[in-house]
Order: sequence, then structure tokens, then C-alpha cells
Amino acid sequence: MLNVIKEQKGNVLVVRFTGSIEENVNFEALIGTPPEELHVYCKEVPRINSIGVKAWIRFFQSLKAKGIKLKFFECSTAIVQQINLISNFTPPRSVESIYVPFTCMQCKSELVGLFKCEDLKQMKLKIPDLKCAKCGGRSAFDDIPEEFFAFLFRN
Ligand SMILES: [Zn+2]
Repeated sequence: MLNVIKEQKGNVLVVRFTGSIEENVNFEALIGTPPEELHVYCKEVPRINSIGVKAWIRFFQSLKAKGIKLKFFECSTAIVQQINLISNFTPPRSVESIYVPFTCMQCKSELVGLFKCEDLKQMKLKIPDLKCAKCGGRSAFDDIPEEFFAFLFRN
């Protein structure tokens, strides 16, 4: 069940998604028609299934067709997977920041780090280690860089 918190800032509508995106999702009812620009925060989306993906693409494509500018922030790893899999999941260069998965080398805890896409591009897939929140050990990026960051270099 997806919950949406909306906040209007001038010509920008900011929405924060919380919850899984599945069969029952109705973006039209949850978001309505934004003004000139829509900023979507996806930090708290742990899961999106195939029906949710279809609804997502239909809704955001319809906004794009109306000339509304879209930006996506704090995309969870579940959302990043879809961005990589489906070329029209998000418009080109609309993803501003993403969560990146890390695993601690010592205690094996999993954590995520927030990165701006612009910074990631400049790092050229050399992701710096993070400090583990649990044991203070070294946490390393835990996925295949060429796959997880594929969308960054798509266009
Ligand atoms: Zn640790």
C-alpha cells in the first residue's frame, strides 16, 4: 500500500512515497495533476511489482506528455533496479539521487548510502567505502557497478 505526502512549493509539487507499489496503486488519485514540475522522493519504497511498474510508467509518461518536468530523488535500490531494466521508467537525466547498497566487511551488516547521480558519474564507478553504523568497520559497495549504475551512462 503506497502512501503519498504532498507539499506544494511554488510551481513545484513535491511528493514523498512510502510503501510498496503494487496492484492497488492509483497514482492519479494519490498525486493528481502537478503544476509545472513534480519532484518524487522514493526513499521508502521497498518493493515495486510488475503491475506497479506498468502503472508507474503510464502515469509518469502521461505527465511528461503534458509537459510537466519530472525529477526523482533518493531512489531506493528497488526503484534503481527498474530504472536500469526499463529505459522509459524515468525520463532521461531525471534521476537526481539514489541509494546505493553496501555490506560491512567485518559484521556483514547491509546498509545504504545516498549519492547524487552527478557525483556518481564523476566517480567513474569507483565508489568510496562507508563506515558501518553498527561496528564502525569498513562497508564496501555490494553490487555489480556496471549493472547498478548502468542508467547513469545510458544517455
Ligand atoms: Zn559492521
